[in-house]
Amino acid sequence: MLHTVETGVRSIEAYRGVVPDEILDGLIEAAEPLRGARVVHVNATAYGGGVSELLNAAVPLWNGLGVVTDWKLIAGDDAFFRVTKKLHNALQGAAEPLSAAEREVYLANAEKNARAFEERYDYVVIHDPQPAAMLARGRRNSARWIWRCHIDTGEPNAEDWQFLRGLLEGYDAAVYTMREFVPPDLPIGNVQIIPPAIDPLSPKNLELPRHLAHQILAWIGIDFEHPLVTQISRFDRWKDPLGVIEAYRIARESVPNLQLALVGSMALDDPEGSEMYRQVCAATRNEPLIRVFTNLTGVSNIEVNAFQRLSDLVVQKSIREGFGLVVSEALWKGTPVIAGRAGGIPLQMADGAGGVLVDSVAECGASIVRLLEDPDAARALGASGRERVRHRFLLPRLLFDFAKLLVELGGTERRPTAAVAQAPRDPVCGMTVAHDTFKLAHDGQIVHFCSEECRRRFRKNPRRFLAGGATP
Ligand code: UDP
Repeated sequence: MLHTVETGVRSIEAYRGVVPDEILDGLIEAAEPLRGARVVHVNATAYGGGVSELLNAAVPLWNGLGVVTDWKLIAGDDAFFRVTKKLHNALQGAAEPLSAAEREVYLANAEKNARAFEERYDYVVIHDPQPAAMLARGRRNSARWIWRCHIDTGEPNAEDWQFLRGLLEGYDAAVYTMREFVPPDLPIGNVQIIPPAIDPLSPKNLELPRHLAHQILAWIGIDFEHPLVTQISRFDRWKDPLGVIEAYRIARESVPNLQLALVGSMALDDPEGSEMYRQVCAATRNEPLIRVFTNLTGVSNIEVNAFQRLSDLVVQKSIREGFGLVVSEALWKGTPVIAGRAGGIPLQMADGAGGVLVDSVAECGASIVRLLEDPDAARALGASGRERVRHRFLLPRLLFDFAKLLVELGGTERRPTAAVAQAPRDPVCGMTVAHDTFKLAHDGQIVHFCSEECRRRFRKNPRRFLAGGATP
């Protein structure tokens, strides 16, 4: 049997007053036909990184909605996770593909896990490349299989993509964070764009009174006499922690007492983390104003919450990014973010909401100085970011999108209600648009958008986006 991660059950009503009612009511309606359906989510780790964060939040809420949902982990040894990390990097565009022996390690592990996957479900949701070959190497039974790809595979290493591509045949649907991440020759016909979301009730995101947050960070040595900039990320080259240090040094020339906190977790499926951690420690050894924290020394959800709340600025200088939950987490706390223009980050900060997008270390350093010198502008950015997250990136919206997909895929007797089936989607970014701020009349229909930016892109070339199967 695959290992089951234990989670609780949470009522949707717990979100009243936090998430807009229209989203909650939409989700209750969308999930109704799935009551009693059996769903399993399969991934590689219960701790570290965005996927485990998401499943930890989503699985209890699914169960609260009456959808019988399990979370299972594949097993793998160090050699397997070295291979999957290499595959992950290659799919994000790194040059080095897997060797024949490494492919063997990957496939042998898939077979083992497929054999251990004994239970029957109505829907199997496979997260990311680590468990992706379980369908090809195992039994389909009568389930609908969905591949949820969280990473940016828009420009993958060609060799590794062809290898993985062959293993994806047979999936009933694929879910990506953004249209740009979908490789053109994906062998799965039904592709949905469903960005992730954060759980506003989790210990990481719940309202934490400022005095408590202050006490928590003071206890680990943060000095509130001086401004504080923080990046919270796995120690991973794509998150560019060394670039953050350089940007900080540029900023410190103008803000001499500036503190930098680098908070990083070690994900169980990420063998490169400790090497990057060593590099970060080496680069910051003689700098008392730079502090490096990890989950291994006890900096966990509540500390992350406090950092995201009390930092003057949060930085997320990613070079490649799937979504970057940390951005929504910081914005939800009203803290402005300076972030790399990568992957799903611009989606979270569309129309300039929440902060500043940057393309270089120099720009990042200059933006830190600019926002520290203009706290009113920084506060206004933080407030606009929080509103964007409230409407687009809180957990119930994610479950609404998924419920709609599962019902559409069949496997339950009942059909979605008309309101759910016709929920408008932004044809540019693919997101469901539950509250209508941005609209456009096109060909006698009203088209809805999540942001002015998407509306502008659509106006420029409507055919490009409508050809992709968008639903006005
Ligand atoms: N995280 C954490 N502690 C850390 C670093 C990261 O709890 O020291 C969490 C972070 O708050 C976020 C998740 O790990 O919820 C990272 O997700 P994201 O989508 O930003 O990046 P990923 O690691 O999936 O690439």
